Amino acid sequence: ALDTDFFRRWMSAVAAAVDREAQRLTELDSAIGDADHGTNMRRGFAAAVASLEQEEPGTPGGVLVLTGRRLISTVGGASGPLYGTLLRRAGRTLGDAGSVTPAQLRDALRTGVDAVAQLGSAAPGDKTMLDALYPAIEALGASGEGFEAARRAAEEGAVATVPMQARRGRASYLGERSIGHQDPGATSSALFFAALADTVG
Ligand code: ADP
Ligand code: MG
Ligand code: MG
Repeated sequence: ALDTDFFRRWMSAVAAAVDREAQRLTELDSAIGDADHGTNMRRGFAAAVASLEQEEPGTPGGVLVLTGRRLISTVGGASGPLYGTLLRRAGRTLGDAGSVTPAQLRDALRTGVDAVAQLGSAAPGDKTMLDALYPAIEALGASGEGFEAARRAAEEGAVATVPMQARRGRASYLGERSIGHQDPGATSSALFFAALADTVG
């Protein structure tokens, strides 16, 4: 089972990954956006980790809800409310259980990603973070234990955004000129699932 400490370590691993990859995320966003995705993600997850250390939430759901809240309050761009909604909704779905099974985590993440799709009026194929998130959740499988498969599926999903034309977010303003570039949000979503697989070990 996955306990509160596991979730705290997972969020720290996401923070470390977006810190390490911030420049790349911002470069991708400079091609089809406004060149701030790396700084947005780094600021948001650094603030979240600081809050987790201060407030020490006592459940997996509490860790995700607090992380989501901090992302919403510290990230001005689209990715803050979108990732914030994913994590808050997933956290609320987990309730106040002290530990959760991988299948419960997968179901909670699916609920969170559905909320992202609703908030952003987006669907797979629109060249957004959803193009990495949905394949990753599918790859987790019925048991929820397909962590390595989810890492690969998210990475492949991010790469698969290259030939897509963006239909949502700033990149959509470019029309056909958005084709040929990897979506920054799908790329950070791949880091999110890579951190999950790393934390499982
Ligand atoms: P902003 O575009 O406000 O500068 P970021 O650069 O931090 O915000 O995040 C951009 C990413 O957010 C995009 O690469 C895309 O993956 C995601 N995104 C933007 N709009 C939407 C949307 N409507 N639905 C889903 N994801 C979106
Ligand atoms: Mg941006
Ligand atoms: Mg911006």
